[in-house]
Amino acid sequence: MNEKILDINVTNTSYDDLEKKIDSDLKKNKKIFIIAINPEKILKARKDSKLKEIINGATYNIADGIGIIYASKLLNGKIKERITGIDLFEKICDFSSKKYYKVFLYGASATNIVKARENLIQKYPNIKIVGIQNGYEENEKKIIENINKSNANIVFVGLGSPKQEYWIYQNMDKINANIFMGVGGTFDVISGSIKRAPKIIRKSGLEWLYRLYKEPKRIFRQIKLINFIFLLIKSKYVEKKK
Ligand code: UDP
Repeated sequence: MNEKILDINVTNTSYDDLEKKIDSDLKKNKKIFIIAINPEKILKARKDSKLKEIINGATYNIADGIGIIYASKLLNGKIKERITGIDLFEKICDFSSKKYYKVFLYGASATNIVKARENLIQKYPNIKIVGIQNGYEENEKKIIENINKSNANIVFVGLGSPKQEYWIYQNMDKINANIFMGVGGTFDVISGSIKRAPKIIRKSGLEWLYRLYKEPKRIFRQIKLINFIFLLIKSKYVEKKK
């Protein structure tokens, strides 16, 4: 089920239900597109109507980012838990390794994507990573051919946003896989080149502050979020009264 946050669809299904749905979609051979939604992406989509159309047409828009949980609460929505892109990525890797689904990793630097594959194999020894591709190859045709040759069921695309959403939208019909998910900087984290916040910080909803501490230049991205809060308040108290 979806609810709208500033006109953008966000899936309000629980983690467990989502996992079951994805598994059942795979069994039914459905083609699905997963996007992780955070306030920054909502703001981008408000300025880019094509991106908005892509997001609102995706299968599951998971509530990544604590800002989405607060927004849902403010707008009397039903989203209770955060489903981060990286956690869902790991969940899908875990069940893929148990059910022998084939996985393709596309994105990040050549070094990081190789390291990410190594680390995933170490963590999920039965995972079938049938191909990797760094995110800086320009020959699109070759990338698509390689993915199709690999017979992957699941394609993770980590090119940053909105590049990865556009890429999936433009290419998913040409690729014989079922699941397409945009994973942002996940491969950098899995490779070990970027550290995630300790669990206690993640649970407290302060991961954004930790990321700011680690990468101070994110302040320019985060400052834009004040606009997100303003738009939410406007949508709740001003637009609803019209
Ligand atoms: N990236 C890529 N190709 C590009 C641009 C970026 O593979 O042309 C990768 C980059 O190496 C990094 C990821 O995309 O691994 C972007 O990470 P970021 O944390 O900025 O993602 P976002 O916050 O946009 O989800």
